[in-house]
Amino acid sequence: MFDNKGSKTSLAELGEFGLIEHLTRFVELSQASTKKGIGDDAAILQFSNEEEVVVTTDMLVEGVHFDLAYMPLKHLGYKAVMVNLSDIYAMNAEATQITVSIAASNRFPVEALEELYAGILLACKTYKVDLVGGDTTSSTAGLIISITAIGKAKPNDICQRNGAKPNDLLVVTGDLGGAYMGLQVLEREKQVFKVNPNAQPDLEPYTYIIERQLKPEARKDIPTLLKSLEVTPTSMIDISDGLSSEIIHLCKNAKVGANLFEEKIPLDPTVISVCEEFNIDSTTIALSGGEDYELLFTINQKDYDKIKGNPNFSIIGHITEEKEGMHIITRANQKIALKARGWNSFEEDEQENK
Ligand code: ADP
Ligand code: MG
Repeated sequence: MFDNKGSKTSLAELGEFGLIEHLTRFVELSQASTKKGIGDDAAILQFSNEEEVVVTTDMLVEGVHFDLAYMPLKHLGYKAVMVNLSDIYAMNAEATQITVSIAASNRFPVEALEELYAGILLACKTYKVDLVGGDTTSSTAGLIISITAIGKAKPNDICQRNGAKPNDLLVVTGDLGGAYMGLQVLEREKQVFKVNPNAQPDLEPYTYIIERQLKPEARKDIPTLLKSLEVTPTSMIDISDGLSSEIIHLCKNAKVGANLFEEKIPLDPTVISVCEEFNIDSTTIALSGGEDYELLFTINQKDYDKIKGNPNFSIIGHITEEKEGMHIITRANQKIALKARGWNSFEEDEQENK
């Protein structure tokens, strides 16, 4: 049994990253094949000289990461796989296998779990990864899904979080903020439905952002594209928590600073219009929204011509010396310090900033 009498530190006090650091501070690596343990999008294992293996795991908990009121189980299964594959692609690697562990209460009939698996299997087929194992157990409340993904890459291709150098360019794929605004629309409809269950919402104008929330796609295409362009990023991370938090991760790991230009942040027109509708600043959403599963990376300036004009990429800033700090340069040409306001599972007070 766990006796709580002597311990007074709340989880919220440490925060998600603080807790991980705290729990893993005594971890020691003893295997020569462990090239990189905790601290990146995925661990790196090397069993042969030709290939490295990357491993990542993520857990989704009902009521914390998803709400079955508007998340169909099939989509949930699909998204749970995407969240993990995204971490593999963020290493510039190819995803090859997953394992899936679930804990479900008896509130879930077999048919519900079949739906979940339909989504998981669709993701495996679409992304060409094999489901090779897992674990199944009961839970007293709600549904928990934990997926581990495995991938491979040539040692020279692997991109960690710590390789950015001053003057490197900061590049992001796709567009940002859609998943978060999709969630806002779904939350609003849920409230409307509570008051009037007969209301027929017209979600057509929001299709793009609702898809970004319910059926995200991991950027499997990016490692392949980078290879064909002969570009190896100096560092890379996936955008699960919001742009500012991920930029801070890359900078802290590489001991560098960065300037991000507000006007360069890629936004879909739907995100801009829905932000106006909700009276929220679209830059704030791109910086803090999260769940976009795009990739953020840094490249040496000599590679600029190779990615310039490519519709998959936006150059949004550059890396500076560490002492210059991390800033966003606004459209009004103001320089503002970047703050990590990304998603934090233990957050209490800052919820309104999400
Ligand atoms: P991501 O957002 O990319 O999924 P996380 O912030 O969850 O990454 O994790 C950061 C690092 O800490 C990763 O290397 C992950 O494997 C490791 N990690 C997270 N939670 C734990 C834990 N409970 N025990 C050991 N390592 C952990
Ligand atoms: Mg990640």
